[in-house]
Amino acid sequence: MNDAASSGTNEISAADAQRVTPMMEQFIEIKAANPDCLLFYRMGDFYELFFEDAEKASRALGIVLTKRGRHQGHDIPMCGVPVERSEEYLHRLIAQGFRVAVCEQTEDPAEAKKRGAKSVVKRGVVRLVTPGTLTEDGLLNAKRNNWLMAVTRAKPATGEEAICGLAWLDISTGEFRVAEIGEAQLAGEIARIEPGEILVSDSLYDEPELKAYWRSLKNVTPMPKELFDSTSAERRLAAFFNVATSDSFGVFSRPELAVAAAAATYVERTQIGSRPALSPPARERAGSVMQIDAATRNNLELLRTLGGETRGSLLACIDRTVTAAGARNLAQRLASPLCDARAINARLDGVGFFVEHWTARGEIRKALLEAPDLSRALARIALERGGPRDLAAIGRALGIALALSTLLKNMQDVPEETKLAAEALGASDRDLRDAIADALADDLPHSKRDGGFVREGFDADLDAARGLRDEARGIIAGLQQSYAGETQIKALKIKYNNVLGYFIEVPSQHGERMLSTKMRERFIHRQSMAGAMRFSTAELGELESRIASAGDRALQMELAIFERLAVQVMAAATLLEMVANALAEIDAATALAELAAEGSWVRPEVDDSLHFEIEGGRHPVVEAALTHDGGPFVPNGCSLSPPDGADAGAIWLVTGPNMAGKSTFLRQNAILAILAQSGSFVPAKAAHIGVVDRLFSRVGAADDLARGRSTFMVEMVETAAILHQATARSLVILDEIGRGTATFDGLSIAWATLEHLHEVNKCRGLFATHFHELTALAARLPRQVNATVRVKEWENEVIFLHEVARGTADRSYGIQVAKLAGLPHGVIERARVVLAELESEQRSKPLQGFDDLPLFQNIKAPVAKTVAEDGKPDPLAAALDEIHPDEMSPREAMDALYRLKTILRNR
Ligand code: ATP
Repeated sequence: MNDAASSGTNEISAADAQRVTPMMEQFIEIKAANPDCLLFYRMGDFYELFFEDAEKASRALGIVLTKRGRHQGHDIPMCGVPVERSEEYLHRLIAQGFRVAVCEQTEDPAEAKKRGAKSVVKRGVVRLVTPGTLTEDGLLNAKRNNWLMAVTRAKPATGEEAICGLAWLDISTGEFRVAEIGEAQLAGEIARIEPGEILVSDSLYDEPELKAYWRSLKNVTPMPKELFDSTSAERRLAAFFNVATSDSFGVFSRPELAVAAAAATYVERTQIGSRPALSPPARERAGSVMQIDAATRNNLELLRTLGGETRGSLLACIDRTVTAAGARNLAQRLASPLCDARAINARLDGVGFFVEHWTARGEIRKALLEAPDLSRALARIALERGGPRDLAAIGRALGIALALSTLLKNMQDVPEETKLAAEALGASDRDLRDAIADALADDLPHSKRDGGFVREGFDADLDAARGLRDEARGIIAGLQQSYAGETQIKALKIKYNNVLGYFIEVPSQHGERMLSTKMRERFIHRQSMAGAMRFSTAELGELESRIASAGDRALQMELAIFERLAVQVMAAATLLEMVANALAEIDAATALAELAAEGSWVRPEVDDSLHFEIEGGRHPVVEAALTHDGGPFVPNGCSLSPPDGADAGAIWLVTGPNMAGKSTFLRQNAILAILAQSGSFVPAKAAHIGVVDRLFSRVGAADDLARGRSTFMVEMVETAAILHQATARSLVILDEIGRGTATFDGLSIAWATLEHLHEVNKCRGLFATHFHELTALAARLPRQVNATVRVKEWENEVIFLHEVARGTADRSYGIQVAKLAGLPHGVIERARVVLAELESEQRSKPLQGFDDLPLFQNIKAPVAKTVAEDGKPDPLAAALDEIHPDEMSPREAMDALYRLKTILRNR
């Protein structure tokens, strides 16, 4: 837990409650029960915060800190946020790592008054708001899941790897999953699922080897170990779902049960009495998704860029979904590519079907554009946080689902997965849709408490109550006229405010007449203002209470209708979840088809072989960026399939100049595998991919100072993980190894790594390097293929062709690239001379290491001496120094040569 989350209440304790006002007494008592949360204490239209909470919130939100009353000789700090805008403030507090306890009035203030004028309205915490338990649209990213995760670790037998249980659920969509994994996979799984909040036991949080990791995540909530107790887990889980036993959900291991129960119990505790519409936990089979570690996910910029932005990521580049639920589905597909070729092909069938049937695709996407977020609306209704707009959303979604199911039913040769989705859509509850449509008005308020959401003509009693209320309002309008006539004051108005209710207002100059004895009997003086006087009458008072009671009755009736519909919705919750999933699936499939059609992507052939054959592959994100800038992307093939007779795939060693496109090529092939196994078509002419079980990469390098690792250390840790774990089914992408150390150390490490991958791991791989010496290894490693990214050299400049071809690069052209980058001219010139010197040294006597590099002062200086032996400035040297051959046209060069000859002649 970070600093923000601990809201330390050491200043106040329940014992203090003895010496303060009854209201403060109540506050202190509730705060003492929720010490780790900021307490939002409801007072009228505001949530107020007191003491240290107020100081923290005012700092975090930039709102004014005031004071209210005194406590132990000091002013009590206070600040408040309007209830109406509380979502916005909650959002900011949660984002800063706070947890908030929302404390509401749990009785009508009128009830409290009956107990005595000074009695305090009953209040209670109705909900704890934590990052992993959000439901409001304003607090959530519509296009992403917000997972709450629980993690536990079972002690291993000596020498064995520890087993971790993972449960992750999203109360805003109802999804709930569990899995059991080896401890080595923990970080990778957390990176894949990206939970908004992670629950771990206090002891696991302080476990020495995990301590630094948990703290680096920033969203981990340590909890007492009882939450993870496995003996009571089964019972707690069954109780949560209101079933006799959780056996019906499937067979779970002990760690799985422990985490599922921990997550469910935490939901119960934070939602206090309300139960979200969660699906029973579904077990994710080990090995069902491609394992991609956290570093690889970051490096490939799958869901966000290295800078943390969604824009520029692979997901943003391929997302053509039109609904938020579809976008969440696509994000899940991309984060968790499948490993089962059958399941992948089932998804590809769906995408292929919609590529072919483009008219239907267009119609479906047009219909989906109007589809609201069914699962999130359902979640709010379940938690009694829903409003009329949520009900309407459910009704509209059901209508769209039914229309889509009819459309799909009329199509031929619908593939299996699409058929299943269509059936789910077809099971939509027509009665519920009609009930909602019949009951709700066209224009809906945000909150059910505002009333006015039930359609006129739906309920005769409600219409009568409303009629009474409106009629009374009409009578008031008539009264204004009759009072104006009676008093002869044309400017007389009947107005309303919260303090006086309905009152009569006249300009001050008529005050005397209104206060005359004749009038006094009828018009009761209430207030004198600067320019006006206010009066009431018995008649107005009576009408007001008639309006209020009719209005109140009407609202109660509307709320009862809302409740009835909400009950109907909850009775259909399981079915509605199915419909929501089906809508999301159809959106994702049609969106992928749209993408494929738009960019001429092809269906990859995916099977259980070890093939990896790409013809004319492209990097979708780089291609999109280039299209934007007007440049063409050069497609490249790649073949890592086992050569004839071999039982393992090939490793391509890619050399080539800087900036030629090596990294792009490497990443592109990793991305093609991810896309294909996510069930997407791929940007290529053709692709055949044998399922990749794990994708490893060592791309780019950044230090990890938080964990005390230098750039080179991070590189070596990542390389070690690959060498220990990659198998023949894995795909390994290595972009430079051994660059952060001395040349020969680096070369030796890269050398040994390549041999190990080839001989031991036997994986399919791509290895980009500037150590050209490694190309010679191909003579000894039969599955090593040398490839290079081609360039042309023209007048000492490099022209990048971005074409990957078999063969090796002769040099890296680093100096030319440095020049392009704008290194100062002098440095470039100097580097050329050093390079020439080094290369000639190397030819005559191979270098032994950095120590053998010629020292700076031993290299013949490239610049001419500007002072001649006699101490006078040397004009020839000065003229030479002014010449920059790379920046001259042939004509200028010629002129310069003549100038030099003249100087020489005149010496
Ligand atoms: P370095 O060795 O310096 O890291 P590199 O060889 O890995 O360089 P990349 O970073 O892959 O080079 O590519 C450099 C730039 O070249 C990219 O940003 C992109 O704009 C362009 N590029 C790469 N591949 C292609 C391609 N196939 N077609 C067109 N442009 C490309």
